[in-house]
Amino acid sequence: IDSNASGSYVFYDNEMDQHIAGRLYLESGMLRALHLNEFFLLYQPKIEIASGRIIAAEALIRWAHPTKGTISPLEFIPIAEETGLILQIDSWVLDTACAQARLWQDAGITPFRIAVNVSAREFSADLPDRITQALQAHEISAAWLELEITESMLMRNTESVIKIMGQITALGVSLSLDDFGTGYSSLSYLKRFPIETLKIDRSFIRGIPEDQDDCAIAGAIISMAKQLKHKVIAEGVENHQQLNFLKKVGCDEIQGYLFSHPVDADEFKQLLSRDFRV
Ligand code: C2E
Ligand code: CA
Ligand code: CA
Ligand code: CA
Repeated sequence: IDSNASGSYVFYDNEMDQHIAGRLYLESGMLRALHLNEFFLLYQPKIEIASGRIIAAEALIRWAHPTKGTISPLEFIPIAEETGLILQIDSWVLDTACAQARLWQDAGITPFRIAVNVSAREFSADLPDRITQALQAHEISAAWLELEITESMLMRNTESVIKIMGQITALGVSLSLDDFGTGYSSLSYLKRFPIETLKIDRSFIRGIPEDQDDCAIAGAIISMAKQLKHKVIAEGVENHQQLNFLKKVGCDEIQGYLFSHPVDADEFKQLLSRDFRV
């Protein structure tokens, strides 16, 4: 903050200045963080309702900042997306998730999918190659990997996006559509994309079971998605009422604090043997 204020006093007389200063601070810090390895991943289980078993893990990034403590991705990912640094961060995430898969594989664990979030900006023609390289570098099979993409990616150059997605799924990596329901894609439009799983956004789960609209939306998404042969997962499931409702309307998988917060790799390994059936 004070680097360009040498010898002079700096007063922040409005919140805007503070906001900008905070952003610059984070932005320069992120590049350093990449080099000094200050980022780390936590893993949150995705549980199959029918079996009560963990069938996947979502990798969620955190930043162990040397003075500010742990910083949430909600604070730095949007800035990284604006500045372009997201490309390097998402590459780091992909590589780190593959390295972790390798460690779990070496520990004798049966492959399950590690879901990595992909920013819209990162979804470019060279993504299939970068995935292949990451898999090869760590000598793991594509069955270890899933990508979570968002609806905004479907809105762009449709033909080229379909082509890239086809190349990714041909590798054996599966695709999920994150935050589903918050964008504008209709389910019929979705049929054109090789997406295996729809992830219902937390905003529609929150009000279940009291909010009739949330119940109706979640129920409708699930029944239509199933008719179109997509699997459905609900995110942000925090209580048993939500779980029971989702079970009743045929949701396949659940992710949320009810079962586990995001945890580090060692804790996750402990969770793998647990039976989550309720
Ligand atoms: P997201 O992809 O929608 O991830 C789900 C978020 O919901 C995570 O927040 C997770 O910790 C949180 N969550 C999980 N279960 C519950 C629950 O039961 N209740 C509530 N209230 N929250 C729950 P997190 O880890 O803070 O991540 C926030 C967002 O940051 C993610 O939203 C994603 O958009 C982005 N993000 C996280 N990691 C990465 C990454 O490695 N790369 C990119 N590009 N984005 C990331
Ligand atoms: Ca996600
Ligand atoms: Ca999500
Ligand atoms: Ca969400």
